[in-house]
Amino acid sequence: MFGRAPKKSNNTRYYEILGVSNNASQDDLKKAYKKAAIKNHPDKGGDPEKFKELAQAYEVLSDPEKREIYDQYGEDALKEGMGGGAGAHDPFDIFSSFFGGSPFGGGSSRGRRQRRGEDVVHPLKVSLEDLYLGTSKKLSLSRNVICSKCNGKGSKSGASMTCPGCQGSGMKVSIRQLGPSMIQQMQHPCNECKGTGETINDKDRCPQCKGEKVVPEKKVLEVIVEKGMQNGQKITFPGEADEAPETVTGDIVFVLQQKDHPKFKRKGEDLFLEHTLSLTEALCGFQFVITHLDGRQLLIKSNPGEVVKPDSCKAINDEGMPLYQRPFMKGKLYIQFTVEFPDSLSPDQVKALEAILPPKPTSQLSDMELDECEETTLYDVNIEEEMRRKQQQAAQEAYEEDEDMHGGAQRVQCAQQ
Ligand SMILES: [Zn+2]
Ligand SMILES: [Zn+2]
Repeated sequence: MFGRAPKKSNNTRYYEILGVSNNASQDDLKKAYKKAAIKNHPDKGGDPEKFKELAQAYEVLSDPEKREIYDQYGEDALKEGMGGGAGAHDPFDIFSSFFGGSPFGGGSSRGRRQRRGEDVVHPLKVSLEDLYLGTSKKLSLSRNVICSKCNGKGSKSGASMTCPGCQGSGMKVSIRQLGPSMIQQMQHPCNECKGTGETINDKDRCPQCKGEKVVPEKKVLEVIVEKGMQNGQKITFPGEADEAPETVTGDIVFVLQQKDHPKFKRKGEDLFLEHTLSLTEALCGFQFVITHLDGRQLLIKSNPGEVVKPDSCKAINDEGMPLYQRPFMKGKLYIQFTVEFPDSLSPDQVKALEAILPPKPTSQLSDMELDECEETTLYDVNIEEEMRRKQQQAAQEAYEEDEDMHGGAQRVQCAQQ
């Protein structure tokens, strides 16, 4: 079958893929595959091509027969010999068979071996300018990584002992007597081995990690804040959280928190700005400049003869926020106008205004009719405060009424809930 010698046999690539020497032991291969496969698993954001290659390399090298063929004749020979090519197996099957069972001890440990590490969530404060322009922030974080000296074994020899506290199960059962013929069994993670089921001989402890299997490492992450991102949006770094043995590493997740801006408010893709005009500006025209989030100066002015009414709103197209991942498109900029009226006018001003403003309504009453009316006095109120006070009053009355009707019974009912 392998009669003709392949051109130039490539018989080192699989070793390179796994990052081991070509005299690596089965154990070395397992370790190397396991570590790399976790790191490159597509579910964790890894490259599917790389994940497939790893499975292929591991599948061949872990089989003594295939490995021999590979060492002698290289990849092509295997492809010819096996008919279906070296990658005949689903890389995901290889991965799960690896973690699910036989190569690494009993199936009972399945759940534990496939445990997924916690995600680490950090808030990241950004300004509205950052979200408008986009930015990148370098953050230095400390995280645990598998100890390189012992490959996460925790011991110099690579050996570990079954934890005497839990006989290797990682769980302890405590029994509590509840009554003469009643006991309660409670399960909790073993405190002696932190639920791993293994302990390490004191003399055999890895000097680098002191048997902890992991060491802290400083890492700088560059968080790219893209134009148009929203408050609360998440930026994920897959597999960058704390590493732990036999655990799929969790993600580091940054959650954007937009700081309030003194001038602009954001709603989705739009920006809102409040602006106060004097009465003269509202009636006779206005012109003002606002500095946008990117520093541009926008000239805002009224049309000739236009009157701006109090609490009216105007918009400018394409001066809102850029759209996320379509930053060339922008929302609107809304300007909400408040008009400041003078507190009082002198008699001369009143006369001058009456001369130019539209006339008052003509339905004037005769002196006779006026005589029959009652005089009233107007005074200033803050209407919101008035309403709030009235609501509180109503609530208080309702509560008192309730108390009178149900008395103490009401209290007992509350206490039971
Ligand atoms: Zn234990
Ligand atoms: Zn170590």
